[in-house]
Amino acid sequence: MQKDQLFTRRRLLLAGGAALGAAGTAGIVLASSSEEAAGGVAPAAGAQARPALKSSSFRLQPLTGYGPPPSGQAKLKVRKEPITEISRRGRHMMLTFDDGPNPNYTPHILDTLAKYDVRAMFFLCGECIVVNRELVARMAEEGHVVGNHTWTHPLLTTLNRREIRDEMTSTSEAIEDTYGERPQWFRAPYGAWNRAAFQLGAEMGMEPMAWTVDSTDWTVPGTRTIVDTIENGAAPGVVVLSHDAGGDRSQSVQALREYLPYLLDNGYHLTVPRRRT
Ligand SMILES: [Zn+2]
Repeated sequence: MQKDQLFTRRRLLLAGGAALGAAGTAGIVLASSSEEAAGGVAPAAGAQARPALKSSSFRLQPLTGYGPPPSGQAKLKVRKEPITEISRRGRHMMLTFDDGPNPNYTPHILDTLAKYDVRAMFFLCGECIVVNRELVARMAEEGHVVGNHTWTHPLLTTLNRREIRDEMTSTSEAIEDTYGERPQWFRAPYGAWNRAAFQLGAEMGMEPMAWTVDSTDWTVPGTRTIVDTIENGAAPGVVVLSHDAGGDRSQSVQALREYLPYLLDNGYHLTVPRRRT
């Protein structure tokens, strides 16, 4: 058995096996609750999401000029806004951690998630993946879902199409090499989306995922503020943005130890998307 097949197999077992197959193209299927299968994906409601930089720029780009969709995918679905919520049914929330992996912080995040038997999403940067391969392998082993967060974390709105493609393609390849599967989710650095990023992501089989509640941990506001922001923002369907790299993330690590048991005590099911087939 190939190493990557082994990864896939282990992750399927972790996920409960029967997860595959239910997802349509329009919805996220949540991994923690087979009984509540399909969760609809709410389009960007704007709610508490940090506004994307130059959010209108992609609307000015004509659909033509990017060439035909890849062969065999005549109806390539290209979103115009990122997903910002998961299904509001079933009191689900999703935790996401960006910019890693990082050897100083990611292991502590993983330890806390393991302690409470919770899965999360990690949006990884290629340049961090290649020097922390074992951490990505651990994410696979422990059932977490990883997404593509580009190689160098650039502001995509300043790059041309070829540069964006290179950032995304190389990162997906690094993820496949370390995690065992290509990512099905993509998040633009700084939440700065543009038309090319949506189009290229779709061509690579990835959905654009943003967030509902920004923990503001990237401003290093103090552990208490991070905890309060997440606990006050808690609601069914909420996707939380935090970081396990990109600076001193010890507050993010400590905050998780406080808000995670709070969310569980309040009846939230922390979940991740199931693999689309
Ligand atoms: Zn980031």
